[in-house]
Order: sequence, then C-alpha cells, then structure tokens
Amino acid sequence: MVDLFKKCYDFTRADEVKAMGVYPYFRPIEENEGPVVQIEGRKIVMAGSNNYLGLTAHPKVKEAAIKAVEKYGTGCSGSRYLTGTLDLHVELEERLAKFFGTEAVLLYSTGYQTAQGVIATLVQRGEYVVSDKDNHACIVAGQIMARGATAELVRYKHNDMNDLERVLKKIPVEAGKLIVSDGVFSTGGEIVDLPTLVDLAKKYNARLLIDDAHAVGVIGKGGRGTASEFDLEEEVDLTMGTFSKTFASLGGFVAGKERVINYLKHNSPALIFSASPTPASVAAALAALDILEAEPWRVQKLIDNANKVRTELKEAGFNVLDGRTAIVPVIVGDDALAFQMWRRLFDEGVFVNVFISPGVPQGRQMMRTSYMSTHEEEHLDYIINTFKKVGKELGLI
Ligand code: PMP
Repeated sequence: MVDLFKKCYDFTRADEVKAMGVYPYFRPIEENEGPVVQIEGRKIVMAGSNNYLGLTAHPKVKEAAIKAVEKYGTGCSGSRYLTGTLDLHVELEERLAKFFGTEAVLLYSTGYQTAQGVIATLVQRGEYVVSDKDNHACIVAGQIMARGATAELVRYKHNDMNDLERVLKKIPVEAGKLIVSDGVFSTGGEIVDLPTLVDLAKKYNARLLIDDAHAVGVIGKGGRGTASEFDLEEEVDLTMGTFSKTFASLGGFVAGKERVINYLKHNSPALIFSASPTPASVAAALAALDILEAEPWRVQKLIDNANKVRTELKEAGFNVLDGRTAIVPVIVGDDALAFQMWRRLFDEGVFVNVFISPGVPQGRQMMRTSYMSTHEEEHLDYIINTFKKVGKELGLI
C-alpha cells in the first residue's frame, strides 16, 4: 500500500535550492510602498511587480479602501448570488462596462476564478475549447474543468495562427467553439496576433475570449487593453481581467454581451459558490479606475519605463525578448544559472522573478522583469547597471 503523502516527503527540490542559498520564492516583503521595497531589513528596487501603475500606494486608492471598510465592514460573507452583492459591486461593474464599451461586466473574486468560471461554464459537452499553448494557468484550469464535463480541448502552438487554423479545420463545423488567448502573454510579454485571431474566429464560427490581465492599463487607448489596441472592440466576444495588477487590488472580471453575462451570473459555480470580493477590494479597484481614466499619462510612462530597460539591456548584450508591454524577459537559459543570477541581483538590491523549467521550456529560463509607471529614472538606471554588473560576473554579457 502506498501512502498518498509519499510524494510530499519525496519532494526535495525546493529544499535543495534553499540549501544552496538561492531560493527566490515566498520572500516576505516588510515594506511595500513603491518601487523600492524592504526585504530582510534591506531596501530593494522592485523589478518584478504587476502593480503596473503603482497604484497600491496611491493615497486616493488607500483612502477609498479605508472608507469602504468603515461603511461596509471587512467582508461580504456571501456570494454575489445571495447576500454578497453590495451597491459597490454593481457600481464597479457598470463603470467597467462603460470603460470597455461593452454591454455588461461581471465581477469574480480573483482573475484565476474568472477564467476557470467562464470557460468551464460556457464550454459544455461536445463543445470545444481552443487554447494557445502558452496561455496562463487559470485558463488551463478552466480547460481541465470543461474537459472533466466532457467538453473537448485542443491546443495550438503559441501565437501561431497557421497552427490555429490547422486545428480549427479539424473541428466539426457544427460544434460550438471558444478560442481563448492571453492578450499580453504573462511570461514573454508578447501581444496576441488579434487581427488574425478575429478573422479565424469569424471564418470558423468560433467565439473569442481574451485574458487581458497584463493588457489593461498597459496597451490600448487609455489602457483599455488588447481589443482597443487593434480597434477590434466589436469583434472580441469576451474580455476578462484582474484587479491584482493595474487595479491595485484583488478580484477579477469578465466583460461582454448582456445575455452572456446574465448566463454566467446564473450558471457559473465559481461565482455562485464563492464569496464576493471584499468592500475594500472593490473600492480600491474603483478608485484605481478613476485614476486610470483621469490620468492616462501613467500608461505612457509605464511603457516608456519598460522600453528604456528593454533597449539598454539589449544594447548591453543581454538576450532580451522583443516587445512593447510592461514585461521585459531576460533569457538566461539554465536553471542553476537562473537561480544564481537571481541571488546576485537580490544581493545587489534588485528583485526580479525567476522562471525555470518546466514552467518555461529548457533554454528559455529567464529573469522575468516588469515595470511600473512609478519607477523613476534613478530606479531604472540602478536596475540596468546592476544587471550589467551581475551579467558580466556570470559571463552572460
Ligand atoms: N490571467 C493572467 C494572464 C495572469 O497572469 C494572472 C495572474 N498572474 C491571472 C489571470 C490571475 O489573476 P488573479 O491574480 O486575479 O488570480
């Protein structure tokens, strides 16, 4: 007989990395007010946050959250369906619908739950999820749930529209199909080829869901995301996103036609059986949306910041993936080297995210850096110079 927990006792990879002193994960942050954070008593320049517009520290966002706690308390203690809908939830849904120019919006408690909840609810027995191989884990979770309910799953090569057409051709014409893609891919930061995706969706009678977690506040007119970037707002059936990045809070949303949102409201278990976002989370996201609408220059500053680092690291000789979003991946190409580089950057006062295999394919191990509109020139120069110093030490440049 085998103990179910045997795998847990046999799992030693994290302990080995800890013993080598290069473990980068679960590092408690003691102060988190801006681009400079405090970890282990030291000031560190953050180059790995998804707090794209830096709004988690904005006085108006904080004040909105505090006021919401004073007015509504700390939690809703129920799902949206039953006792967990506040006027604040409805207000945020209406404001987001206006912002995206869609008929309706539905809030979920996280972005992860949104993807899972939307895909698994809409794609049913005998219908197809058609998914980019590099889509985020929450989309994969949605696919797995849909497949558990006997929906079909097909995947196509990353952002490869020829491969997408190849798989679409094989699906019975009469079957319902949902094509799902990240708008901005969370690892490499590249933007989906939306014009071709839209053409193929039309040609093969498929519906389209775009995950704009890394696109809202980053690309599109005034930060309105991928559909807006390509002037294809009418062609994208559903856009989902998160409040955990640009919106400086916690929660998720999906935007689309009223009848589709209405169906999700009454049929999506991830919504119906889970408590609604807290008053503070919703109020913070509302305040962040106010700022995004009133101060679109923040979006441009974010992109300028990321572009500066992308250009200068490339000029220094690093293998940097091309792009024009807030994500700047620096390829290292080896697990041990990636951990070593993370540690040296950390020692020198720069915090980045390390992506190793199997999270990324062999050879694509990277320092996934990302920027905020609140990074100033001095922070960016510090990050660039530290990369150059450590890169030379490790023979990367
Ligand atoms: N989609 C993408 C592309 C993401 O990168 C993330 C978070 N990293 C999510 C969804 C999940 O969002 P949340 O943090 O709100 O669960």
